[in-house]
Amino acid sequence: MEKRTFIKLSSLTMAGTVLSPLIDLAQDDKLKNWAGNYLYSTTRLQAPQSIAEVQSFVKGHEKFKVLGTRHCFNNIADSRDYLLSSGKLNKILSLDKNAQTVTVEAGIRYGELATYLFSNGYALHNLASLPHISVAGACATATHGSGVKNGNLSSAVVAMEIVTATGDVIYLSKEKDGEAFPGAVVNLGGIGVVTKLTLSVQPSFDVRQDVYENLSLLQLEHHFDEIMSAGYSVSLFTDWRNKNFSEVWIKSRMDQALNPALKPEFFGATAAVKNLHPIAELSAENCTEQMGVPGPWHERLPHFKMGFTPSSGKELQSEYFVPREKSYEAILAVERLHEKISPHILITEIRCIDADNFWMSPCYKQPSTTIHFTWQQDWPAVSKLLPVIEEALAPFQAKPHWGKLFTVSHKRFQSLYEKLGDFQRLLKQYDPKGKFRNQYLDKNIFGVNGL
Ligand SMILES: Cc1cc2nc3c(=O)[nH]c(=O)nc-3n(C[C@H](O)[C@H](O)[C@H](O)COP(=O)(O)OP(=O)(O)OC[C@H]3O[C@@H](n4cnc5c(N)ncnc54)[C@H](O)[C@@H]3O)c2cc1C
Repeated sequence: MEKRTFIKLSSLTMAGTVLSPLIDLAQDDKLKNWAGNYLYSTTRLQAPQSIAEVQSFVKGHEKFKVLGTRHCFNNIADSRDYLLSSGKLNKILSLDKNAQTVTVEAGIRYGELATYLFSNGYALHNLASLPHISVAGACATATHGSGVKNGNLSSAVVAMEIVTATGDVIYLSKEKDGEAFPGAVVNLGGIGVVTKLTLSVQPSFDVRQDVYENLSLLQLEHHFDEIMSAGYSVSLFTDWRNKNFSEVWIKSRMDQALNPALKPEFFGATAAVKNLHPIAELSAENCTEQMGVPGPWHERLPHFKMGFTPSSGKELQSEYFVPREKSYEAILAVERLHEKISPHILITEIRCIDADNFWMSPCYKQPSTTIHFTWQQDWPAVSKLLPVIEEALAPFQAKPHWGKLFTVSHKRFQSLYEKLGDFQRLLKQYDPKGKFRNQYLDKNIFGVNGL
């Protein structure tokens, strides 16, 4: 047999529903995450095409994990038993123009949803750096873009449909489920199979993207808020050499008056004369249009275009959230480690995210700044660096991104997340036998066996 995916011919029949065939990947063709740094522990994968198929699968299996588009860098989506891909649950179900909401199946990718919304005159409030990720997978980990007044992507969720551990379908909404809803949106894959999400939308808008080169780190001491508020979404990039941000990306809404990005200079940084990749040595072909050319929101808010490889590809990522008011001090604390960091870093990005009320969101009741690291794919080196960075950022109560690499302990999470106990209870309520539990949840959320 070729070293390819093969399909078992026997379709499973459960509870009267014929399931899509179980895909059993050949052992040496194991499923990896997007970056290729993580090998999932099972080759048994199913991709249901309907809610009924999801329900049958849930009823027929003791333990499994849902897979989105596999863009996390750690074992959050891993299972030793079965994986249930959301890839074929990717339809747009309805656009409610009165309520200004769109309802989608969970596995749809932002890029596909954005194209549909734009063609109907609507927009989401924000996007991450890439449009390739699934809506449910991104919301599960509190994935974010940038913008001092923009909450993370989960903040657009107003309702969810979930298949729980019993195979029953439940609906949770912002309006009606004030208690459970804030716990269930950023769910780390632990509450059940999210099958549908309803998201807030708004009338479509155009954005221009202006890039400046060489902003001195010293400018952040007195102007951090001004710099990060200079556009609808602002990102700073550095490799930690020379106390310098090599690039500042300012995404400005064309329907908002404020547009300082028109000036040739920005706090001493100079306007770029061509499109740039955040990693200056790489071609900007994969990047969204810059040079102030206005365009639709979904073609400017992500840094990378849908049809192309985002970021660098062969990489690792880590990211830490710190309280907004501590931004400069936290950045300085990392800068002091520049000699250790620089040999291993591809690029760091600084972004701002507004507060929300999701229990497991790193921005829970806290406007935040993120310090992100795109590393060379050298885990032995990165694994030694992360505890050093985490120690330097500990005085700022830094919280790691749930979908990226970190070494923070369960004990530390207990002090960082005041709602951790409530979240544990919520997971036990919806999933008493731990069907959706995996090593990641055991270790980070439940602190099982001293992990
Ligand atoms: C190149 C690159 C750029 C990135 N840029 C950003 C960025 O700009 N901002 C940012 O915050 N993050 C960023 N990330 C991280 C990424 O957005 C998150 O890790 C996100 O969670 C990935 O979504 P996914 O669909 O790939 O989820 P997966 O990795 O497949 O799964 C993540 C979690 O969601 C759960 N899950 C997925 N679907 C469902 C479902 N239907 N029901 C229940 N649980 C489900 C899984 O079980 C798992 O626990 C980036 C990652 C890469 C590789």
